[in-house]
Amino acid sequence: MATQLDYYEVLEVSRTASAEEIKKSYRKLAMKYHPDRNQGDADAEARFKEISHAYDILKDEQKRAAYDRFGHAAFEGGGGGAGGFDFSGFGGGGLGDIFEQMFGDMMGRRGGGQARSGNDIQTHVEITLEEAFSGVKKDVRVITRVACESCHGSGSENGESGVQTCPSCHGAGKVRAQQGFFIVERPCPTCHGTGRSITDPCKACHGEGTVERERVVEVQVPAGVEDGTRIRMTGSGEAGANGTPPGDLYVHVSVLEHGLFQRDGANVYCRVPLRMGQAALGTEIEVPVIDGSRANVKIPAGTQGGAHFRLRGKGFSVLRSSARGDMYIQVTVETPQHLTKRQRELLEEFETEAGEDIKHSPEHTGFFRRVRDFFEGGE
Ligand SMILES: [Zn+2]
Ligand SMILES: [Zn+2]
Repeated sequence: MATQLDYYEVLEVSRTASAEEIKKSYRKLAMKYHPDRNQGDADAEARFKEISHAYDILKDEQKRAAYDRFGHAAFEGGGGGAGGFDFSGFGGGGLGDIFEQMFGDMMGRRGGGQARSGNDIQTHVEITLEEAFSGVKKDVRVITRVACESCHGSGSENGESGVQTCPSCHGAGKVRAQQGFFIVERPCPTCHGTGRSITDPCKACHGEGTVERERVVEVQVPAGVEDGTRIRMTGSGEAGANGTPPGDLYVHVSVLEHGLFQRDGANVYCRVPLRMGQAALGTEIEVPVIDGSRANVKIPAGTQGGAHFRLRGKGFSVLRSSARGDMYIQVTVETPQHLTKRQRELLEEFETEAGEDIKHSPEHTGFFRRVRDFFEGGE
């Protein structure tokens, strides 16, 4: 995640490429590497994300200009988080915004009516360990602002005829103010950055162009995902006011604990109890595997409690790779309880026999020698 590729290289265009060329190349590459077309191919998925991120920057005139001058540094400290697929975000009031404001001012905004896009929204999804292994599609419900159905997002009862240029900012959507050395632009308080004023506000949305609704969003959780991963779904956030672009949706993934398996990175641990006799005599046991299959494990005679057996490649799927971790069987040896009369007799007989010869109990010799040393050394 730490290495940052040149956005032009990622999109396979020259630094002088036109907006149209960038868009064309982005479409071609996005089609090629789209996760739906490359099921389970983690490299393609990683590539797809790089492409999307590079396009997010280069499609925007101001961000592209900032990137051309300052490289990746232009967007650092923008409030993004580590982990998951999140590539440090813009918006949210971070440095990125300040850059945008400065550059917007220096370079001159494109024509008026540039309102902020919709807010990013956050949601949360819980998945089982099996789902984290195989990947899963989840429907998540989010309550968010969506484009108003009555006015199709225009905010006006009568379509475009009721929409006029904002008198405060003359349609620019921005007002300027001196701040130290800089002239900064802020969204126009009258029209909230839309550059328009609505003379006959839509009754359903009071001229906002958006209404609050519950929405169901399908989230593709990739195989190998870890607890705490954040998935960014570009454009699935809140609808922007008056038809401006939507924000992004961030989905935080929690992986539920499992009754059989514990995960550590790509490895999976499973504790299996053995009877005393099984551990002493040796046996073969069947164990469950995270992928839903079963595996046989040979337990050699004389196995001690706490012993580990590794099952190569039976562990967790690895994000962005076809590799799999290993599974470890951790053996516990159980002491029998509530003995029948016959069991008791047999064990007593066994004890009499075993007690006379210390070689049957490998830890015994060392232990009792240390006990003897302890008392003799202490006198
Ligand atoms: Zn409306
Ligand atoms: Zn205005």
